[in-house]
Amino acid sequence: MNVVNAELITIGDEILYGQTLDTNAHWMSSALSEIGIKVVRRTTVGDLEAEILKALSEAELRTDIILITGGLGPTNDDLTKPCLARYFDCEIVVNEQALKELQKYMAGRGRELNKLTRLQASLPEKCEMVSNERGTAAGMWFNKSGKVFVAMPGVPDEMKHMMKHKVIPRLKDEFELPVIYHKIVRLAGIGESWLAEKIELWENALPRNVRLAYLPTYGDIKMRLTATGEDLEILKVQANELVDQLLPLINDYVYGFDDETLEIVIGKMLIERNETLAIAESCTGGYISHKITSVAGSSDYFNGSIVPYQNEMKIRRLGVKEATLIDHGAVSEETVIEMAQNVREKFRANIGLASSGIAGPGGGTEEKPVGTIWVACADERGFISKKLQLTQDRAVNIRLSSVAALNMLHKRLLKND
Ligand code: AMP
Ligand code: MG
Repeated sequence: MNVVNAELITIGDEILYGQTLDTNAHWMSSALSEIGIKVVRRTTVGDLEAEILKALSEAELRTDIILITGGLGPTNDDLTKPCLARYFDCEIVVNEQALKELQKYMAGRGRELNKLTRLQASLPEKCEMVSNERGTAAGMWFNKSGKVFVAMPGVPDEMKHMMKHKVIPRLKDEFELPVIYHKIVRLAGIGESWLAEKIELWENALPRNVRLAYLPTYGDIKMRLTATGEDLEILKVQANELVDQLLPLINDYVYGFDDETLEIVIGKMLIERNETLAIAESCTGGYISHKITSVAGSSDYFNGSIVPYQNEMKIRRLGVKEATLIDHGAVSEETVIEMAQNVREKFRANIGLASSGIAGPGGGTEEKPVGTIWVACADERGFISKKLQLTQDRAVNIRLSSVAALNMLHKRLLKND
């Protein structure tokens, strides 16, 4: 099968200075690998003509497809357009279609075209304009001896929209790409190395056309199976059969597939059961609620939350008993259980979820070191609680314990007894 290679060139001083994280290259790599294009190199250069031209000529030697982002603005610091005109040896002229689309875009926002914005409709003569439906900088598509160069805006949202709707469909048309099918299995509550051990035999027996990637984030792992071949239906059957063999090995940890995040799965289950949720968050500071409310339609099952950070608020607002706090401390099983039970009652929800812990970096003791976090879940059947012993890093602890709380809730929802 033909291997189609690509190189990404991201342009902008701000990336080299470390002011902007190069999320474009990251996103494009993933979008291209989804369609079977192999990214063989990523280059970042500043807004400097000599560097841009050098990057273009080097990339042309190596690859079939060169995708460029950044430097398309109308201001003097943006040089990509004149560099491309120079590279392809042509003039920059007004592109009628680009002008029309630019006028329409500006009119839609009730704004006039000024001189600088109008420059956005001037493009190198040898390119084909690629519409930018999200902004004013048009993209540019060049063909040169079987190779393709595409320049896109640096603004991530504009670039992504252009890639999804214009560039990827056309690359699929112009290149003979392998057929690829991805199947993602999502897990929580298990570390990567434990997981790898559990599925070792299954993994070693994977057919040659199927690759496995472990994609861990905080407390959560995506296992991605990528099957490559010529017929999508055959690949789907193959990947799904492999997942069927895998599931019995890891059943306790799997919560969803493909794009289903833990919070989406929880939302679906709560809707099915016609149940509601309330959350009392101390150390997670609202992060669990943020995850729950990032799902559209969560108002159907999320009653609300409270962040009683200080003991006084735990007592006054949430009704945690003063004696519990004195006897056991805020970071204790007894406190977190009362928090879950009380928030359930106060917010009139079927289920209460709570967190309390020492996120760090300060505040730890010998008995309760940084990273000691309790989570609890209460419902009409009673409660469950869990002690976590996490890291020294505050941000990591907040994320890990939020996922652990959601995982606990998910398990509770799965168990019907
Ligand atoms: P430009 O097209 O160079 O005018 O870039 C516009 C804005 O997009 C910049 O100010 C950055 O904030 C952002 N940007 C440019 N390149 C990238 C990149 N590679 N990754 C993420 N953001 C970027
Ligand atoms: Mg720039």
